[in-house]
Amino acid sequence: MARAVLVAISLMGTTTDVGAHRAESRLIYLERHGASLRPGNNDARVQTSSVVTHAIDTAGWDVSDEDWATTMECMSELWARFDVAFTDRDPGNVPHIEALFGGSPTDFGLASNLTGVSPFASDCGVIENSIVFTFTDKLPKDPRRVCEVMSQEIGHSYGLDHELLAVEVMSQLPSGQLRSFQDQEVACGETTARPCGSSTAPCRATQNSVQLLRERLGDFGGDDTAPAIIVASPAPNTTVDPGFMVSVAASDDVAVASLTLSLSGTQLATTSNPTLEWETDPTLAPGHYTFRVEAIDTNGNLTDRDIVVEVASSAGCSATGHSSLGIAVAFVALRRRRRTAYR
Ligand SMILES: [Zn+2]
Repeated sequence: MARAVLVAISLMGTTTDVGAHRAESRLIYLERHGASLRPGNNDARVQTSSVVTHAIDTAGWDVSDEDWATTMECMSELWARFDVAFTDRDPGNVPHIEALFGGSPTDFGLASNLTGVSPFASDCGVIENSIVFTFTDKLPKDPRRVCEVMSQEIGHSYGLDHELLAVEVMSQLPSGQLRSFQDQEVACGETTARPCGSSTAPCRATQNSVQLLRERLGDFGGDDTAPAIIVASPAPNTTVDPGFMVSVAASDDVAVASLTLSLSGTQLATTSNPTLEWETDPTLAPGHYTFRVEAIDTNGNLTDRDIVVEVASSAGCSATGHSSLGIAVAFVALRRRRRTAYR
């Protein structure tokens, strides 16, 4: 039976605005040998925790290597659909959540019936670099059970409250079944329904742990690779005739969302296709120009590439006498002609 109780410690850590960003701390450090903690804002990179009131060497978990491996496998399985990674080596000075297995709540001056604890932001935001605890002295030597409790504590640091659904990881209801994160809108609460978050300023009426974690962590296998850009023409750093064509293509491991061509901050054309052809204005004044190509994939990853060219004088037109005003006029004409291409 779950007895992991949520401790509401408002804004003790660095919280991430709800919905504004994915959590930076998507690496989860599982530690079974204990850690040296000092009181302070929650920061796994420097071992300070809002849960401890004095410097403490926490107890580890006396567990066989086999059970430890099973526990780590269970953690990976419960979180498999989200873009998180697990390690049992200290990642050091990079954003991560630290998950400490071992000891008893009384080691921390907490109520003796607690099986775990995590800081929780009253606005249900993410607590970056949080340190969470599972008190294995209070639990059976059951890797699955320990893994479920620890997953709930980590969930609290990602801003998830308790849910009233027995098979849900975030539930404290008794369950004879294995728990996992459930893709269902459920009332929050321990044994009776209440709004989610703090009682004075709830953050939402109900909670869907899977959708919240997808929003805050992303899906496993999500696209982190930016698109590639190929400039078919013009060749870079070459001299081109007025009215030359720009021809570019973008490719991505998932999908290209947009391909955009601009000049001096002014967008000339954009498309949702992976290729873009653009006829430059034939009255473009001679001189150096830097065109910029930007490709964005469906996950928001961006690649840009500059195309630097020298536009030659057209036949019978002297390079002298073209002013910067002439360039501006040329681009106004260009924009009018291709207005339908703009977003
Ligand atoms: Zn809890």
